[in-house]
Amino acid sequence: MTAQAYGNDATQRRDRADQESSARADAIARLAARRDDLRAQLRSLSDDESESGRPRFSNHLAEDAQDQQQRQGAAVVRQMLINDLRQVEHALERSEREQYGICEDCGHDIPPRRLVVIPDATLCVSCQAQREARRSAH
Ligand SMILES: [Zn+2]
Repeated sequence: MTAQAYGNDATQRRDRADQESSARADAIARLAARRDDLRAQLRSLSDDESESGRPRFSNHLAEDAQDQQQRQGAAVVRQMLINDLRQVEHALERSEREQYGICEDCGHDIPPRRLVVIPDATLCVSCQAQREARRSAH
C-alpha cells in the first residue's frame, strides 16, 4: 500500500518534469520558427530596397521628402527586426548550451509561465527590471 502510494507520487513528479521539459521544447521550437520568420522578413526587406534602385535625385522636393521618410521607416522596421532576431538567436544559442530558461544574470530558473509569454527571455523578471532601470538611468 505504502509502496504503491510512493510509486504514484514518483510518477506524478516525473509527469511534471515531462511537462516542463516539453513546454521548454515547445518554446524552443517556437523560437526557431520565429527566427526563420524574422530572417524571411529581413530578406524581403532587402529585396524591396534593391528593387527601388531608381535614381535617387529628382526635381520634386516633396517626392524626395516622402521617399526619404519611407526609407527611414523601413530602416526603423529593419532595425527592430534585427534586434528581435539577435535576441531570438541569443536565446537559441543558450538552449544549445542547455541554458535555456536560466537567467543570465542571477542563474535562477526563469518561470515557465514567463517563457510561454516571452520565449526569447534570457533574464528573469527582476533582472530584466534591473537592466531596464540601469538603461533608463543613462
Ligand atoms: Zn535573474
